[in-house]
Amino acid sequence: MSIVRVALDIPLHTLFDYTVDEPVVVGQRVIVPFRHRSMVGLVIECEDTTSVSLTRIKPVSRVLHDIAPISDSLLKIMKFCSDYYHYPIGQSVMSALPASLRGDKPIPIKSVPNYRLRADIPSFETVSSRKVVARRLLEKLALHSCTRDQLNRLSTSASAQLNWLIKEGWVEEFDSPVQRQSIHTFSCAHKLTGEQKLAVDGVTKSSGFHCFLLHGITGSGKTEVYVHLMDEVLHRGGQILLLVPEINLTPQLEGYFLSRFPDTALVSLHSGMSDNARFQNWQRAQTGVAQIILGTRSSVFTELPQLALIIVDEEHDSSFKQQDGLRYSARDVAIFRANGAGIPIVLGSATPSFESYHNAKTGRYSLLTLTGRAQIEARLPEIKCIQIKQTVMHEGISVVLLHDIERCLARGEQSLLFINRRGYAPVMMCRECGWLSDCKHCAGKMVLHLKEKRLRCHHCGYQLRMPTVCPGCAHPELHPVGSGTQRVESILQSRFPDARILRVDRDSTRNKRAWQKMRDQIHANEVDILVGTQMLAKGHDFPALTLVGVLDPDGALYSGDFRAAEKLFAQLMQVAGRAGRSDKPGTVLIQTEFPDHPLFRFLQNHDFDGWAALQLAERRMAGFPPFAFQVILRAEGMSESEVYAYLNQARQAACELKYPVDILGVVPATLARRANHIRAQLLIQADTRRDLQQFLHAWQPHLDSIAMQKLRCSLDIDPLEF
Ligand code: ADP
Ligand code: ZN
Ligand code: ZN
Repeated sequence: MSIVRVALDIPLHTLFDYTVDEPVVVGQRVIVPFRHRSMVGLVIECEDTTSVSLTRIKPVSRVLHDIAPISDSLLKIMKFCSDYYHYPIGQSVMSALPASLRGDKPIPIKSVPNYRLRADIPSFETVSSRKVVARRLLEKLALHSCTRDQLNRLSTSASAQLNWLIKEGWVEEFDSPVQRQSIHTFSCAHKLTGEQKLAVDGVTKSSGFHCFLLHGITGSGKTEVYVHLMDEVLHRGGQILLLVPEINLTPQLEGYFLSRFPDTALVSLHSGMSDNARFQNWQRAQTGVAQIILGTRSSVFTELPQLALIIVDEEHDSSFKQQDGLRYSARDVAIFRANGAGIPIVLGSATPSFESYHNAKTGRYSLLTLTGRAQIEARLPEIKCIQIKQTVMHEGISVVLLHDIERCLARGEQSLLFINRRGYAPVMMCRECGWLSDCKHCAGKMVLHLKEKRLRCHHCGYQLRMPTVCPGCAHPELHPVGSGTQRVESILQSRFPDARILRVDRDSTRNKRAWQKMRDQIHANEVDILVGTQMLAKGHDFPALTLVGVLDPDGALYSGDFRAAEKLFAQLMQVAGRAGRSDKPGTVLIQTEFPDHPLFRFLQNHDFDGWAALQLAERRMAGFPPFAFQVILRAEGMSESEVYAYLNQARQAACELKYPVDILGVVPATLARRANHIRAQLLIQADTRRDLQQFLHAWQPHLDSIAMQKLRCSLDIDPLEF
């Protein structure tokens, strides 16, 4: 009999001891009794002794053998997360596993069938030449065995033809437990530019762990650099993890990479997939069958025995940071992972985060730059500001912009209006009594969704029918204030009744296939004007788009969040990058009250370096990241006094510890009330990561001792939101 120490999904900073009388190894899943239920856990340590009394210790109910044990290297990453993000070990481990592995039953493992030619078949010539697809399948299978997925890539009728070939005795199915593709084909579409080649060589010639920042303007061909790096790794039989910020981008990227590596086993991992599909792909990565893993944030925890390269695309994107539970940054965990595995990692972006940029400038990372657009014809767009106080405005859209849209329509080209707010109007107002559409559960306003005739709170989801008279004074007229995507859409529709207008935001793309369909429409030139939020800004290539209008960006210029301007610059750079990507030049018009703001000046010159230098100098003066390391302790609860009492006690304990950290005051959160919960926070910062971590380790036991059942509390290390 031996003792195992097990990680369980329990909010305590400890492992749980059990006895077991069969052989068990670290990394195996076990079912154990806990309180009055049965739970799945992961064995973290195997011991001969325990400090728990043997009369109280319970036996493991069942050891699961369905999948190979979790590897030491992945366990190390999970432990790092628990330690660095100060999140309970069991919860860290469990949130890093695919959902299918968190259930308390073994999962049936299905192997993916392979297909091969049967022995002694006659010449392919005997298959009718009219069966074009069947013949292509045979030719492919003559090279190597394939999965159905791989064959499906050849034609939409591949599956039916495969069934026919099986029926006719040409092809047979067989189970192969682990079969890696030995053939590797690469379709080299472009000759690399000089800069691209330098970047590729920089990475391939490095050895061991090395972090690279690939800073390339939009359209400079970063993807091409990735593809060449992947090619090199695939030749060596290594696996590649490619992290991307958006689920929406994965189908498009998947198609793209498959077109470049037609014989490669590529799997996607993202939250839009069913648990089962996701697990199947995870397992293909674990068994080494999958060679390229394309995934969002959580795929950084995929088991990858042959991992040889990590790429983080759009590394600045805030969706790499998880905002609840284990609040990890997938980019930072990826760097830790690359370090542990002794492999290179490439962070790519047109607008790197100031953290990464600073690290590259100070030599901790190697900087690779692409300064020109890859296609010679593609020029950078011209960016102009429109001072809204000095032009005639038509319902929030300047006539200058309207004229340009009109000309664009006449030329048969696309235009895009970018406004980062969905709904019709952000608030409704009564001009008689000053009533505003406050959410009764939150400190925010209810947004008008005119089509649905509803007021909706975007913070808590609370909804009301749109009032017909003022709820305050019964005045019969209420006014929408400001604009969201819906309103811009309807203004444009009445101004350009013949134009085909498409709105792209979270409301219009809620339906699973909606966005895919919209993208096809845009590419087929079935759309004249696009109205959308940041969803439209990221990574999409719309060749016919030549005009971008930006409405209402000013909120971020003087925001209390010191990262707001950084984010705005990145977003505008990205939307601007959508314009004029092929041979037609693009124009960007920004409507603002502050055309002289440095952000717009640097943007107009496409000068990220200048902008970053200015911002970093300001951050240094103010003592903000990347020159300081931060943690936020957040608390929320129904009772204001309890929330503040908890945070004040925590603050008191922090002060008494006397560590070299700056302890700021307890303040209300940006949204001080959400869904009837009062929210407040405490910010602490230090000059070095190490100081902050040492302090946190000392502080944690105090936080545990003052924890209150009724409060929801969390530590957010390296927070991105305030
Ligand atoms: P980024 O990801 O940096 O915005 P992309 O990788 O999408 O840029 O490349 C922009 C365009 O340039 C794509 O259409 C791509 O096919 C093309 N391209 C990339 N590299 C080259 C090259 N070396 N020569 C010619 N065209 C290229
Ligand atoms: Zn609300
Ligand atoms: Zn009123």
